Amino acid sequence: MSDAARRHPKSPAAHDSATTLQTLLLETRIEERARDQAFRQVYETVLGSSTYLGDKPNFTRIGTNDLARMFDLYDRIFLGGEVRRALMAQNSKLEFALSRRLTRSGGQTKRTRPSRSQAFSPAQYEIAVSVPVLFATFGDVDRPIRACGRLCYDRLEALQRIMEHELLHLAEMLGWDRSNCSANRFRNLATNIFGHTESHHQMITPQERAMVQFGVKPGSRVSFDWEGKQLYGIVNSIRRRATVLVPSAQGTPYSDGRRYDKFYVPVECLKPV
Ligand SMILES: [Zn+2]
Repeated sequence: MSDAARRHPKSPAAHDSATTLQTLLLETRIEERARDQAFRQVYETVLGSSTYLGDKPNFTRIGTNDLARMFDLYDRIFLGGEVRRALMAQNSKLEFALSRRLTRSGGQTKRTRPSRSQAFSPAQYEIAVSVPVLFATFGDVDRPIRACGRLCYDRLEALQRIMEHELLHLAEMLGWDRSNCSANRFRNLATNIFGHTESHHQMITPQERAMVQFGVKPGSRVSFDWEGKQLYGIVNSIRRRATVLVPSAQGTPYSDGRRYDKFYVPVECLKPV
């Protein structure tokens, strides 16, 4: 028995569903033509049924129910609904989120266990998609986008690659208790089922957008308007906004021995100096 299995014992039904899912995942191989058709089917169904997307592949609004719909289509078309079935058998809830805090990866699958001490305590799962990465991709920075090794032509396709990757994380967690997209098993599943050749996306991160569009990166000297005053500082980091450190006698001491005040400024309001 693995350490994880000892810590989180499963009920017999949950154990069976995990084994079924393991076998299905390991045996599923989808050939390219069928896969392309299935990708198209997901694409068109999501686009045609969402009130937020407004029939625009480079949509500017999206809801968590769009993520849920896309997830279920993938589960049904590619895996016969076995991921949902395993979630039910394991008594686990799955939620979807649009995250403003994820700024480096396109998505994330999280597992939480509400009660660690209880035997058969069901895990809860969340698939989150990064709003900053999704909307910076096919935004104002123009370059070809590859995600999971596949070229994407619009934002909806980029979202599909994120969902495929995260769905596999969830399926691995349900089947084997743990998931690692740098490990061989994940890579093989991703290739056989979704035709992915890489685990990582090359979507546009807020960091890249800041550099390409505004010439700003961590370490850049910048100026910006703050309540009518022109302030000068150094970019410390770039997430949803840039963190700019402005020298100040009353500020917080930093490791370089100087004191700074910290400002959070939208990247478009910074001028490199
Ligand atoms: Zn991953």
